[in-house]
Amino acid sequence: MTDYSDHIGIIGGGIAGLTLGCSLLKDGIPATIFEKMPEEISHGAALSLSSNALRLLHRLDIYNDLKNQSFIHSAASIQGPQKEISSFQTPEVLTTRRQTLMTLLYSKYIDLGGEVHHDHAFDDFDAAKCEVTFTNKKKYILKHLAACDGIRSSIRDNFFAANQTPKYSGYSAWRGIGKSNLQRIHFALGPGSHIVSYPINNRGDVSFVAVKKEDYQFKESWKEEGSVKDLLNDFSIYDSKIFPALEKSMPLYKWGIYIRPSLKSMITKNITLLGDAAHPMVPFLGQGACMAIEDAYSFAMACKDNIANLLDAQQAYDFVRSKRTKKIQRLSMMQGKIYHMKNPLLVAARNAVMKYTNIPGNDLKRIHDYDAHDEMQIYLAFGDLRHINF
Ligand SMILES: Cc1cc2nc3c(=O)[nH]c(=O)nc-3n(C[C@H](O)[C@H](O)[C@H](O)COP(=O)(O)OP(=O)(O)OC[C@H]3O[C@@H](n4cnc5c(N)ncnc54)[C@H](O)[C@@H]3O)c2cc1C
Repeated sequence: MTDYSDHIGIIGGGIAGLTLGCSLLKDGIPATIFEKMPEEISHGAALSLSSNALRLLHRLDIYNDLKNQSFIHSAASIQGPQKEISSFQTPEVLTTRRQTLMTLLYSKYIDLGGEVHHDHAFDDFDAAKCEVTFTNKKKYILKHLAACDGIRSSIRDNFFAANQTPKYSGYSAWRGIGKSNLQRIHFALGPGSHIVSYPINNRGDVSFVAVKKEDYQFKESWKEEGSVKDLLNDFSIYDSKIFPALEKSMPLYKWGIYIRPSLKSMITKNITLLGDAAHPMVPFLGQGACMAIEDAYSFAMACKDNIANLLDAQQAYDFVRSKRTKKIQRLSMMQGKIYHMKNPLLVAARNAVMKYTNIPGNDLKRIHDYDAHDEMQIYLAFGDLRHINF
């Protein structure tokens, strides 16, 4: 048994876990990460991060290094299967390899004195003793358990919502990276499908996510290897030039996109859920990792303010983050419906709104303008402002 009774034990060293580790250590709060994988491995091709997450990475002193290895966007374009619909300016969006973000978070965490215990797959937690056990039989006494173990979180299953396994959302996504001279974020929308492409650096590497609505049920691995031929077949209504150069031998994966119902609360006893463990979402607003970063940063702020009473920290976190993440979960699902419209009249109306109004850009701006630091600071200073009569 190892005594970490002054540490916050973080289960899962993904985006939420590493961001939480950095945020806590930066504030002088002891923390340690337990990760089931034997070494730092990052699945998934690329990600986009919007300014709501970037301003937090700035505060964690990670942004500048990330920016140097990524692509910064201020413009996007949208087309139908064949014809352009509109081009518009976007608030700052950074696109990068997932591995780049993970490596920078990991290095920052280690620089701050952090440690990752690999080969530690969560097994059980005795909340009364605050004792965590791993499948390798190792046990640790903790101050608190932060569950950052992703969409298939067994901590969520055991302590928050039993018998509520992730459900296939009805969407599947092909992801890949190839060469192209694309210099902006590009959306192609068709009935029942869409393709998003963006450069992820200044060396011509372009990532694409091609999403299709289909009844197909994915099995255990949630992803399947596919060929260029299968991909082009699935998206035959589009001009194949939309994709970056696709080499026959390149590995391409098709992922099932899974969701779970919203939880009433992201906290219980001495356990706090963060990131996909708390609120997985369909990726149509590019906000899953951004929410994981916002959660982690906010929980660390709440802990710093309430280190002697983490229950208060949990309640502040739950109040501020539940509202935000439920809204983004809902909007992400709605975005899928807007992208995949089939009715020609609705498609024409959608395209006119995209072409002649600023509504889509303004909606995005509202999501991106959110500052998790300010929101938590206001809550910690004044509590729930709805109870104050001005
Ligand atoms: C197709 C697609 C495209 C996406 N694009 C974007 C995008 O552009 N922008 C964006 O913001 N988001 C995007 N997302 C969402 C984003 O990838 C996730 O929301 C994000 O990775 C969640 O981070 P996390 O740390 O909560 O979970 P994860 O990244 O899944 O990390 C969980 C960690 O916990 C570990 N773990 C799991 N179980 C255990 C256990 N029992 N014991 C110990 N460790 C454990 C895992 O090994 C892993 O390291 C996309 C998702 C998909 C499917």
